[in-house]
Amino acid sequence: MNDEHALAAVTGARSSELYARACRVIPGGVNSPVRAFRAVGGTPVFIERGAGQHLYDVDGRRYLDVVNSWGALILGHAHPAVVEAMSQACRKGTTFGAPCPGEVELAERITAAYPGLEQVRFVSSGTEAVMSAIRVARAASGRDLIVKFAGCYHGHADHLLVAAGSGLATFGRPSSAGVPAAFVAATRVLPLDDEEALQALFAAEGDRIAAVIIEPTPANHGLLLQRRAFLEALAQTTARHGALLIFDEVISGFRLARGGVAELTGITPDMATFGKVIGGGMPVGAFGGSRRVMAHLAPDGDTYQAGTLSGNPVAMAAGLTTLNLLTAGALWQRLETLGVALEKKLAPILAQAPFPVSLVRAGSLFWLSLHAGDAPRRAATLEPKALQRFAALFHAMLARGVYLPPSAYEVCFLSASFGEQDLAYFADALEESLLVASKGS
Ligand SMILES: *Cc1c(COP(=O)(O)O)cnc(C)c1O
Repeated sequence: MNDEHALAAVTGARSSELYARACRVIPGGVNSPVRAFRAVGGTPVFIERGAGQHLYDVDGRRYLDVVNSWGALILGHAHPAVVEAMSQACRKGTTFGAPCPGEVELAERITAAYPGLEQVRFVSSGTEAVMSAIRVARAASGRDLIVKFAGCYHGHADHLLVAAGSGLATFGRPSSAGVPAAFVAATRVLPLDDEEALQALFAAEGDRIAAVIIEPTPANHGLLLQRRAFLEALAQTTARHGALLIFDEVISGFRLARGGVAELTGITPDMATFGKVIGGGMPVGAFGGSRRVMAHLAPDGDTYQAGTLSGNPVAMAAGLTTLNLLTAGALWQRLETLGVALEKKLAPILAQAPFPVSLVRAGSLFWLSLHAGDAPRRAATLEPKALQRFAALFHAMLARGVYLPPSAYEVCFLSASFGEQDLAYFADALEESLLVASKGS
């Protein structure tokens, strides 16, 4: 955005002041880069509180929230039952450094829900879940190489911060400073939806590959809906070569269905990782697989993995209550119904939009794609013009009280606290904002 004055007028005085203070003591003023609004210009709004489907900033403005803490909140903000369960847990002590009942209950709930999962271990973030799953997969297979797909995000562990090599090369290069080339030397990067590239890699190095990790519904580079046949080919190829298939369901797990994408596709991975929804808004991740695979972990096995706050009682209470409410209320069905309703409301608006924009959706996950043409299945770079339009669209929506993710590549999340009136509010704001964004470009 060039129009800094217009943006300054949008961000409230208290947010601006907090941001200035934050920038002095926190790098970039934020604790996770996307929050800084760099992709859309302007400066972040600071949030005072959340309630249901709404966020309230420190300047007293209300936003309809379709970020929902990047998918961690599936019931909306401060759900009374979740807050009550956490309060009760808090009063009994916030961490013990010893096992507690909540861990057992949540582990039972997750293993019962997810196909093929016999054991899980809890950690404190999705990054840790993936990091640990990869270590176990390497231990279980006795191999070092791991394969990931361009456009999939698996957290910020060194060996996964890899950009695809140029041309046909599958050798990755670090996608972040501070990651030694040696750390990503054992990582291969493939394009999504490309069975030929997959077969070629396995033909060349199949007996050295420990695991293939994929977001089965990739949602970190827009929403790149995969063909079931591709996931099936992955499962068959990994099985044939003795490599493990890891579904990273940190976003999709318990959001798209009780049993995640594994349930929806009928394809059972060897291991799966979770985060976001299972913590009910608290810092929780989990990774799991069969008893045979998980037996490699200490104390039974020789693969070390640990965490001071892993299985934290307050976080377990938040996660358990969330999963209980999802099941009791058949909320996955309700979220799908909401998604369908949103699609219907937006269809005529998007059809008449002044520039290419389409809705890509899976359940309560949706992406406003500014690509011209069909929804991509592979990571595709948006044109500079589309990025500019998104920035303008983002600010127009913010000014109309809708909090979109501050990046054209990020997906949006509905929560069960949304109602029909919220979808209408979103649709009206979008219709106006598309016009505003087209004028600026
Ligand atoms: C968010 C995310 C992660 C990382 O989780 P953090 O809790 O942010 O560390 C890993 N994988 C996927 C698919 C994610 O969306």
